[in-house]
Amino acid sequence: MRAVRSCARSREVGRYDADGGQVPTTLFEAAAFHRTIKANCSCGREAVFHAAALWWLFQQRRWAAHLDYVPKRLRCTGCGRRGVPIFAGRDAPTVTSLPMPDECEWKRAVSRFRS
Ligand SMILES: [Zn+2]
Repeated sequence: MRAVRSCARSREVGRYDADGGQVPTTLFEAAAFHRTIKANCSCGREAVFHAAALWWLFQQRRWAAHLDYVPKRLRCTGCGRRGVPIFAGRDAPTVTSLPMPDECEWKRAVSRFRS
């Protein structure tokens, strides 16, 4: 994931590149570990989101970003169902309409996460 806007403190770029095969438990971790979030509805529709874009959406709406709580916030665009199961993976995103986080906000979150 790469945020679009540049940030003055750009020397921190790369500090969140380490992956280590960790399993993310929140949207933030999924984004930090470079995963995407795939939602698979029982109607057959699936969508793959940038984890960082979802994290940013949840951040702005003050929703709990634990992956257990994400499904009830998502609604299938095919059948309207809520509670669609999600998985953190490495598929290429298919949903590009969500804005990516402001890079400075993202870095602040990363440094909180690291401390
Ligand atoms: Zn559906």
